[in-house]
Amino acid sequence: MIENDSSLDSYIARLPKVELHLHLEGAARPETLLELSATKTGLRQKAEEWIAARRSNHFRYANFRDFLEAFKLVSLLIETPGDYALVTTRLIEWLANQNVRYAEITFAAGVVLWKKQSVDAIFEAVADAAKKAEPHTGVKVRWIFDAIRHFGVDHAREVLQAAARLRSRGVMGLGIGGDEARGHAKLFGDVFREARDLGLHCLAHAGEACGPESIRDAVELLGAERVGHGLTALQDSNVVALLRERQIPLEVCPSSNVCTGLIARWEDHPLPKFLDAGLTVTLNSDDPAMFGTSLQDEFVRATNCFGFQRETAADLCRNAIRASFMSAGEKQALEAELARV
Ligand SMILES: [Zn+2]
Repeated sequence: MIENDSSLDSYIARLPKVELHLHLEGAARPETLLELSATKTGLRQKAEEWIAARRSNHFRYANFRDFLEAFKLVSLLIETPGDYALVTTRLIEWLANQNVRYAEITFAAGVVLWKKQSVDAIFEAVADAAKKAEPHTGVKVRWIFDAIRHFGVDHAREVLQAAARLRSRGVMGLGIGGDEARGHAKLFGDVFREARDLGLHCLAHAGEACGPESIRDAVELLGAERVGHGLTALQDSNVVALLRERQIPLEVCPSSNVCTGLIARWEDHPLPKFLDAGLTVTLNSDDPAMFGTSLQDEFVRATNCFGFQRETAADLCRNAIRASFMSAGEKQALEAELARV
């Protein structure tokens, strides 16, 4: 069905959405940062500077490392367990406004360790905030703890240990992000094997700032069940075949790739070619507050840019439901709801 933009936008708004690639700290919007710095004079100025820098650059970063630096800075603005709880509450309210029904949110446990703070104390506050928000927002949240590639193996193992300790609070996976070039997957094979043995799901950002070999390594050496970005997959037909045969979904985040300078324009994103190649694509917002986007916006931008209609928007939504770590019953219920939109 070909339809006008506003009818398609309202269809997208009604989709029961699932977000699988979303960083808590990168989802702290300017109003939330100002809210949590309201009573902290030193912090207020830093928050205002950080927000002004994002706006003056139109949420663009000089390069991928510049983005990682900005992520580090926003993580420093979120200080106490109470701050993290507020960021969580505001994020879940925002997700509810977009009709996101389920989210697997990445918590940068690696950055918390780098800040020399207690992962347990902070995450308890985060998990409490999410639990409190669930009944009135209808947003169910599960958590992925993220290690940083360029912080090394001992650091990743500490993140794994924290994830294992906090499983009863909704942590279901170990992920890894950061600089692919400075943290090769082969370094982390043992850590991810231990994660699997503990029953945690394994995820990895790969093929974001590096070539397709990084995607293959994420799948083969880390046992990644989903790949974050996978932007360079099409450069190697063997990698495409691997993703297709093993049915590894890609967590695609186009605005993120444009804003971090990995691609020049939305039109250059390989998303439509991924679909043509038979890959499983899910659409995500990554660090929406750092890229001036939201999951709703990503759906609207994708349909506008690539000329997708309702069917493709619904397919992307269904892919995310199926690629999630929800129970079979939860998936079935959400798919049934999607069919009724
Ligand atoms: Zn990410």
